[in-house]
This record gives sequence, structure tokens and C-alpha cells, in this order.
Amino acid sequence: MLKELRHLSGLSKNNLCQYPNQISLFHLNAANLPPRMQSISRFFPLLSSQANIVITCHQKPDGDAMGSTLGLYHFLIQLGHKVTVISPTNWADFLNWMPGVDKVINYDYNRQKAQAIIDEATIIFCLDFNILHRTKNMETPLAKAKCIKVLIDHHEQPQEEAFDYGISLTSKSSTCEMVYDFIVDAGYKDKINLDVAKCLYTGVMTDTGSFRFPSTKASVHLMVAYLKEIGLEHSEIHSNIFDCSLENRLRFTGFALVNRMEVLYQYNTAIFYIYSQDLRQYDIKTGDTEGLVNYLLTMKGIRFGAIVIDRDEERKWSFRSKGDFDVNTFARLHFEGGGHFNAAGGRSDEKVDDTVNKFKQLLPNYEQALQ
Ligand code: 5GP
Ligand code: MN
Repeated sequence: MLKELRHLSGLSKNNLCQYPNQISLFHLNAANLPPRMQSISRFFPLLSSQANIVITCHQKPDGDAMGSTLGLYHFLIQLGHKVTVISPTNWADFLNWMPGVDKVINYDYNRQKAQAIIDEATIIFCLDFNILHRTKNMETPLAKAKCIKVLIDHHEQPQEEAFDYGISLTSKSSTCEMVYDFIVDAGYKDKINLDVAKCLYTGVMTDTGSFRFPSTKASVHLMVAYLKEIGLEHSEIHSNIFDCSLENRLRFTGFALVNRMEVLYQYNTAIFYIYSQDLRQYDIKTGDTEGLVNYLLTMKGIRFGAIVIDRDEERKWSFRSKGDFDVNTFARLHFEGGGHFNAAGGRSDEKVDDTVNKFKQLLPNYEQALQ
């Protein structure tokens, strides 16, 4: 009940009109609460009639976002649907080997074309994000779209009122694992071909830190066992993702470790702070900074790692923790962000040095939690 009230408190009458499939004033029940996002199993029957489908994910898609959208794409086209994947922004080059990636539309570069496809869509799948603003410039087009919206995601606190059907399980390793479950639970396990398998393996692997995070439950290994049974070559995928750095990326990593890292032993915390001139000097592109923050947690005793990167339009934070320090709440409270318990992101409009100072000044409040 409390959760539902929280959702309601964020809704104005205008908001209500944006989601005609889900919420109208006439739909409010006796307690004046909007109906909840319906269970994904109620959506399954819709898979059997031909639809115009758009699949999208969060901005700057990572392995899980790109893997889940393309994995779902390769499944849905087998059912005869017309399917288009639209990414809100560009993505890292290390995802460019993925089957079907050449057909993905970058919303930022092709707004008119993407908008026309969204206008024609009868179903939009929203994968690997919990809140529409994670799609950046696609937030308004998605909110305004009148078609059925389906959420499949594993982030904390989803914006349920924005979706007609969906499943949100924070216990799941990755959205790719959830798309696998979606296909199996809908009765289409036989449609998991090698293209689907390659895409879904990618996201499970990247979101579990190559199967080492606590989210790697037995279900993950059972899924991977099935993908192996149908012929997946997993080593190739590890190589495609991790062994494709250029020299400048390695040199930049060295530079950041030597010059842009600070260890705050009192709080078992370490941070990287990257200025825009550093990115220019080393010709750093989208994706080149991915994984850098994880180095911090390889230091003995470090429980909280953070990186702030000076992007053109904002300072982008990434937070990682080990054990029971909740970075999702930290990011939500202080840096307009969120994510998962042990991995989250946020942002700031302040200059790098100012936002870093803010971060450091917060640490005394968490001294106990970080011991
Ligand atoms: P990363 O630090 O790798 O960008 O993100 C870590 C996790 O937090 C990912 O699951 C990502 O989707 C999520 N995340 C990153 N930035 C944000 C943000 O600003 N808001 C929310 N809600 N989640 C974020
Ligand atoms: Mn994910």
C-alpha cells in the first residue's frame, strides 16, 4: 500500500492522461489508487498476434542493455512481428560485433525516423531501465506514445505507473536473464537460437562481472548451461567484449590510476575523478571508461568505489560497493541517480572539483556503514 501511495503521489492529472492504456481517472479503484503494472504473464497471449514492436533501453547502452534488446529482437522476429531496436544514444564500440547491432537506430542521430517508428508502434518494450528519464531524449516520446508499454528490468524502485505490463526483479542478475525467462515462460524455449544466445550471454556475463557478483545465482549457470548445449561459444564473446581495447585506452587507464585516483582509507573508499581534458588528451570514446571504477574495489579493504567523469553536458557518477553498503540509496539521495544495491550511477551539474568535494564531505555520515 505504501509503495502504491508513493507512486500516486508523483502523478498529476496530466500525468494520468499520458498513460491511457494503464491509467485514467475512470480506472481509479475504491482507494483512489491507479491500477498496478500488470503481470508479464498477462502479456504472453499478445505475442501470438502480429505487432509493430519497438524495443528500447537506457541511454549509452551497456552489455546488458544491448544484449537484452537484441536478444529479444532475435526472438520476436521469429514470431513474425515487425521489430525495431531504438537506442536513445550511441554505444561503446565493443558491442559492435553483436548480431543485429547494424540495424539498431540511434535516436540522437535519427530523431525523425525513430519518431515515425515509435508513432507506428503497437507495443514498446522497455528493457534494463526503471525510470523513463533513463532514456534521455526519448523520455517524452515514450511517455506520449499511446501504445502498450512493457517493462523488463532489474533495477530498484521502477516507475510502475508508466508501464502496462511488466516484470521488475531486483534479485535477477541481469535483464538478459529476465529476457531468457520471458521467452521460456511464454513457452518459446525452442526459439532460442544462436543469435538470441550470443546476445543474452553478453548481458549476463557483463552484469555479473563475469559470474562473480552475488547476483550470480544457480539460475544464471543453468541458463548458461542451456546456451552451451545449443552451441554457444562463450570464449569468443569474452574476447569480443574484453580484448578489443586500443593502446590509448590502456594508457588512459594507467594515467588515471597514477594521477586521478584518491584513496580515503578512513572510509574504506576510493575515487577516480576524470576531467574533460583527460578524455580529450587520450581520445577517450563512449565505453572506454567502462569498468575503470571496478579497479578501486580490487584494493584490499576498499568497500566503496566511485568515479566521476566530466561529460560535456554533466558530471556522470558511477558508484560500486562490496557487501552491505547500499549505493542505490546513496546515489538517489545525493546525486540524482539510482541503480542497484552494489552498482549505481548518478549525475551532477557542478564542476568536477566541486562535486568531488561534496562526495568527500558526505563520507563522515557513512563512516560506520563503511567499516
Ligand atoms: P554505471 O555506473 O555502469 O553507469 O551504472 C551502474 C548501474 O546503475 C547500471 O545498472 C545503470 O543502469 C544504473 N544507473 C546508472 N546511472 C543511473 C542513473 O542516473 N539513474 C538510475 N536510476 N540508474 C542509473
Ligand atoms: Mn542491467
